[in-house]
Amino acid sequence: MPRIEPAPTPLSEPFWEATRADTLKAQRCNSCQMFVWYPRDFCPECLGADLTWVQLQGTGSIYSFNVMRKPGNPMMGDEVPYVVALVDLDEGIRMTTNIVGVDPESVSCDQRVVVDWSVELEDGRKLPTFTPLPT
Ligand SMILES: [Zn+2]
Repeated sequence: MPRIEPAPTPLSEPFWEATRADTLKAQRCNSCQMFVWYPRDFCPECLGADLTWVQLQGTGSIYSFNVMRKPGNPMMGDEVPYVVALVDLDEGIRMTTNIVGVDPESVSCDQRVVVDWSVELEDGRKLPTFTPLPT
């Protein structure tokens, strides 16, 4: 069963287009300089509407995670066990993602991670997942 593929919207399209080139992007507010995630029309901090898409470093730390031993939906049945995590990117964004390329039992909070582009969607976009940085 194929994975659910999120459809781009006019608002999120710059994010998805960047994933084709293994680039992680988010919006940044030109008024208060806060990074904005998920894609929005207005900055949630100052309500400014002057937002620019910028490239992120792609590094961060695991804030929290869960090892999924039963699939969250039938499409993930072949993937168990897999890790769903909240990753705090170094720019201050908290992103819901998967931790890949590692034994789920070795994942821990505060672990340093880097974006990984191994999950490709059918149309060439990629899902940004994360993998532990070598220690
Ligand atoms: Zn702002």
